Amino acid sequence: MNLTDYQTESSENNADRPLHSHYDLTSCDREPVRFPGAILPHGVLLVLSADTLRILGASANTDILFDFAATDLLGADLAVLFDAGVRETLGACLSRLPPSGTPQLLCCSPIRQSERPFAILGHRSGETLILECEPMDVALTASSVTTRLAEVHHALSRVQAAVGWRDAMAIAVDALKHLTACDSVLGVCFLEDGSAHAVAESREDFFPSFLDKRFPRSDVPEPGRQQMILMPVQYVPDLRYEPVPVLMAASEEMTDALDLGRATLRSISPICRRFYQNFGAQSRLLLALVNNGRLWGFINCLSQQPHVVAYPDRLAYQTFIDTLALLIVEKQQSEQNRQSLALNRQISAIITELMAAGELHEALKALPERLLTTLDSTGVVLALGHQLIFAGVVPEQPVINALIHWLKQQAGLTVTDQLGKLFEPARAHGESLCGLLGSRLMDEDQYLLVFRPEWRHEVNWAGNPEKPVELDESSGEMRLTPRVSFDEWKKEVRGRSRPWLPQEQEAFADLQQALVLAQSVQKNRVLQGRLQDSNLELESFAYVVSHDLQEPLRGIMNFAQFLREGAGERLSANEQNWLSTILRLSERMAGQIDALLQYSRANQQPLELREVDLGQLMRHVLQDLASLIAESGADVAIRGVLAKCPCDPVRTQAVFENLISNAIKYNDKAEKRVEVGCCGGTIYVRDNGIGISPEHQDAIFTIFRRLHGRNDYGGGTGAGLTIARKHVERQGGRLWLESIPGHGTTFYFTLAPGSADQSLV
Ligand code: ADP
Repeated sequence: MNLTDYQTESSENNADRPLHSHYDLTSCDREPVRFPGAILPHGVLLVLSADTLRILGASANTDILFDFAATDLLGADLAVLFDAGVRETLGACLSRLPPSGTPQLLCCSPIRQSERPFAILGHRSGETLILECEPMDVALTASSVTTRLAEVHHALSRVQAAVGWRDAMAIAVDALKHLTACDSVLGVCFLEDGSAHAVAESREDFFPSFLDKRFPRSDVPEPGRQQMILMPVQYVPDLRYEPVPVLMAASEEMTDALDLGRATLRSISPICRRFYQNFGAQSRLLLALVNNGRLWGFINCLSQQPHVVAYPDRLAYQTFIDTLALLIVEKQQSEQNRQSLALNRQISAIITELMAAGELHEALKALPERLLTTLDSTGVVLALGHQLIFAGVVPEQPVINALIHWLKQQAGLTVTDQLGKLFEPARAHGESLCGLLGSRLMDEDQYLLVFRPEWRHEVNWAGNPEKPVELDESSGEMRLTPRVSFDEWKKEVRGRSRPWLPQEQEAFADLQQALVLAQSVQKNRVLQGRLQDSNLELESFAYVVSHDLQEPLRGIMNFAQFLREGAGERLSANEQNWLSTILRLSERMAGQIDALLQYSRANQQPLELREVDLGQLMRHVLQDLASLIAESGADVAIRGVLAKCPCDPVRTQAVFENLISNAIKYNDKAEKRVEVGCCGGTIYVRDNGIGISPEHQDAIFTIFRRLHGRNDYGGGTGAGLTIARKHVERQGGRLWLESIPGHGTTFYFTLAPGSADQSLV
């Protein structure tokens, strides 16, 4: 069935067969669709100069409908046809027409000396104005127009109440059958592959049925689709018409350069007319369903006899289908949204469980079974290295291995409903292995595979889809001619599964991402656990080693001391020097062993959390540091009140002592100032000392790392800050600093997770 003005060979439904090379497939594009140079005979078309309203062209039927010969009209002013008042109104309306747009009703008026009213429509076509005059039924009264509008309104409310879009289409075609009184009304929607599917029909018994039939994409070639978007209402009251040429004034352009794309009277392609006549129709009213500039489908109202549909009625039907297009698309969308939502819920539940699972590996065991129903599949394989977890019907392991090997060469997700075309071994398992959603997980030998079986079904084509047209070789040129037979043509579809819907593909992609995430979280958890274990081992090793080293070291120091005291005078100056060096290095080593012990104790000793008055604790700190403070002459001030807080008092005191003693030590100012305070949950120790340059701010937390000479700034082991940070972190807090070299440093710390006051950070 040729659904628009064009007819050409079907290509996509016979994808397996080569096209017959002698078909001239471009002929439909060469069809002068918008430039036929002629119109339908039931109205008159005038071409006007936009500035002067002079008649530049007129259809050759003006003598019949206006009683004026077209040649007499060429070059004349509009006033020759209309009374002065009407001429003025038309002039004003025409000047206000937008540069592009469908024809607008300008007025209803009789032509001079005649009784019969015409609906006068206008639109712009390039530089010119097009005036279309269609005779109106004199009996058309205001009340019949109102009744028609009321009927349309009523039909729309029924469409609106329909549950799904298919019901809505069925109601719409029924309503149009009743309204138009045509013999058959067929509702058609376009499918993803561009073919058209008749989804609703209301007809008289004598008219052939096309319900549920498919029409190949080529039945509605691109120019036909464009024309439907441009002019959603296309009307031919009698397909046996003789096209009426448009005559142009000699000085003007050729008729065939006249763009009639938007003219309601545009003459349709001869192929299309013959097609409908072969089909048994003598009249056609096409109503296109266009939503947001996208052609969703159309409704064809056909009759076996010529059938007049008055202009006001067509206007009412246009309103009907404009609203219908919105409603249908909205209903279809919300049906899809409902399905997506249900699927998303199920996938989210699976993802939440996986994320919460303590043992991911255990949780994954149930996944394939759950995906069977969620993704409407018949087999699922989760390949984790050599381990295969599966549910439903799945191929033998060697086939799965080969499939995974093949998938490794594919990028991203693999989505297909024809696996056999891409992966040859699948053909041998055709029935169970047709559709595949496949993707790699975290590691390269981990894959999730979801299978769908073959979906054998029949498509009822409206005639042989491989030969939708007959060739007319008589003309000498290989032109396409309309198909004469519309016998039902069943075609069995094989080698394909049910297609994966966009929402199913999205859900699979979400699941794959979540799985990879859960796997990485799990891997990190394991690594972190191992790290913690090995840290603890190291710390206890450091503790044991440093503890055991203390004793021999003490022995070395004692015996060196004995040597100095007993044989000091007998030793040469050099030997005495060596002995002093042994003692000095041993003392340094003792200090380092002591620091190492403290460091390992920081984690090993149990945490003793209790409510501690930090003000009180500070007083102890200041007492312990009294001699350092007095010697340095530093001013240590406490800003505000140090509140009570839950912490380990021994550890917290050690932190304060390290930070305050450093604040005094690393200070070259004559007036050394140290300020201790608390803001929100953050405690700070601020000094006006030498500061720490940004590149060293990480290094100072490395054990035994000092920024200065061994004995500068009162010396030290370089372990104090490492231990202080350990004490803080053991309590769940954080220790960090801000510093301006030459001006001072502020150390901040918290004593519980998340207690930091961001304003201070
Ligand atoms: P130590 O004081 O025993 O060297 P720390 O671990 O306490 O060890 O400090 C490490 C290094 O950080 C110090 O050697 C010093 O260079 C630097 N440092 C610590 N506190 C300050 C401070 N308040 N101002 C400037 N530098 C500091």
